[in-house]
Amino acid sequence: MSTLQRLCGKIAIVTASTDGIGYAIAQRLAQEGAKVIISSRKEKNVQQATDKLCKEGLNVRGLVCHVSKAEDRKRLFEEASKIGGLDILVSNAAVNPEVGGVLDCSESSWDKIFDVNVKSSYLLAKEALPLLRLSKAGRIVFISSIGGFQPFNLLGAYSVSKTALFGLTKAAAVQLGSENITVNSIAPGIIRTKFSSALTSNEDAENEIFVKSSSK
Ligand code: NAP
Repeated sequence: MSTLQRLCGKIAIVTASTDGIGYAIAQRLAQEGAKVIISSRKEKNVQQATDKLCKEGLNVRGLVCHVSKAEDRKRLFEEASKIGGLDILVSNAAVNPEVGGVLDCSESSWDKIFDVNVKSSYLLAKEALPLLRLSKAGRIVFISSIGGFQPFNLLGAYSVSKTALFGLTKAAAVQLGSENITVNSIAPGIIRTKFSSALTSNEDAENEIFVKSSSK
């Protein structure tokens, strides 16, 4: 892939980036010249992904970070400070512990979904701000979902959490625009990853998801 090295001199954090969409985002940012801090919950995954990206000649370092843990998030920003600051935050981590309609979701799953998908994204953005303000052009990107626009019945509570990210994106963009910090969301469609395998490996679920998304 040819790249224009548009991100030379930039420093990026991508959460949940040892696999799937986060890994691909981290890889691409690094291919464009950014120094990238990747992370996820499991040391082994962090090590493997960091080794793989470094072998491609990319400027990547890895840390363990469960996005719900304040001390883990703090370490991400300390690492960014050590290597020169922060220009780009990509908040990518999400969970979906339960498949089903929104009003069937258990309270514990609801709490987990909102803790990881929404609250951690909010806290990451808030905690990134001191460093982003020192950058000439800070960037915050929340990874939402097509389900945030039009909820999937089988991913009811998850879809609501992704809609909440659109609200967070708009409110934070209004707050930070005058400081030249942009806030955006990306809303992927169905991408075959570990996360989506519960749906893509189940014919009924797959039919529902693909019918819903293609009817948009
Ligand atoms: P994935 O392939 O399952 O990737 C999961 C990654 O997240 C792994 O690196 C995993 O590593 C890490 N992770 C999981 N929980 C974490 C946590 N609490 N804290 C930090 N890292 C964590 O997932 P994906 O499909 O790429 O999804 C990425 C994002 O795209 C999510 O926000 C998802 O909602 C969104 N999205 C996905 C699709 C799709 O079809 N795949 C569609 C729309 C939106 P460890 O196990 O080591 O933590």
